Amino acid sequence: MIVLGALVAFFPAAQACRAATPEVMAWCDALEKRLKSVDARFCQQQNLHPDKRRSVGGHPLMMLDAAPAKSASARRPVRILLIGGLHGDELTSVSIVFRWLRFLDEPLSRAHHWRIAPLANPDGLFARPPKRMNGNGVDLNRNFPTPDWAQNALPYWQRRTQKDPRRFPGNKAMSEPETQWLCAEIDAFKPDVIISVHAPYGVLDYDGAAPPPPHRLGRLNLNQLGVYPGSLGNFGGIFRDIPVVTIELTNATTMPSPEEQRRIWNDMLGWIQERLVHPESGPGH
Ligand SMILES: [Zn+2]
Repeated sequence: MIVLGALVAFFPAAQACRAATPEVMAWCDALEKRLKSVDARFCQQQNLHPDKRRSVGGHPLMMLDAAPAKSASARRPVRILLIGGLHGDELTSVSIVFRWLRFLDEPLSRAHHWRIAPLANPDGLFARPPKRMNGNGVDLNRNFPTPDWAQNALPYWQRRTQKDPRRFPGNKAMSEPETQWLCAEIDAFKPDVIISVHAPYGVLDYDGAAPPPPHRLGRLNLNQLGVYPGSLGNFGGIFRDIPVVTIELTNATTMPSPEEQRRIWNDMLGWIQERLVHPESGPGH
């Protein structure tokens, strides 16, 4: 016991190296089986926590927290919520978030406070074949509680999408545990920016009045796609006044090159540094 106590005292940051719970171990193993790009051991070393809710299909809803060390800066860190896999058949949107986790230890990344949901729609990803929707057949990116939801979401789905089952918004806003979970995270964490990764449109979308959007991340150019009832961009960017950067990778099943993965990340951090880190702001800003 004396030896253990000494070790804990000597490594105050040992929390990050603690053993993963059986639930995290199993989730990471399942993810490695589904996506060959994910390394289960690396996944198990991350600071992942399951929400009290589960997906409709019973999968854990995992969030990673990476806060800067208290002494890192006098400034209030920028809070970033990064979301992959809101659509379960966009496999690269999960894989690239796991690649980016390897960059979290770099100085520019470490200055920020991250909450990361690498896989927001586990039902969709673990389905065979993977599907866009969750276990209830709901497009989660149409289920966020935007003020126009009650009036517009179902009519939009019926008339504009001809009842496309891939775009069903649910029977009411925030009917799904996955959207309840993400909304609760937004309320609790109060992110300064939300970054949501999708595929395969090969563009960059942006919702929010300020700051000015990034014009280019890697090879992805800004091309604002429009606003949909119940989308995360509409909810965060327009209703909650939290800028939402939507990264649409070019392919849902083939990853961008390692160089392009790195360029998108660097450009994203460059934009955050330029637009969201305020040198004049002190603690408590
Ligand atoms: Zn998508």
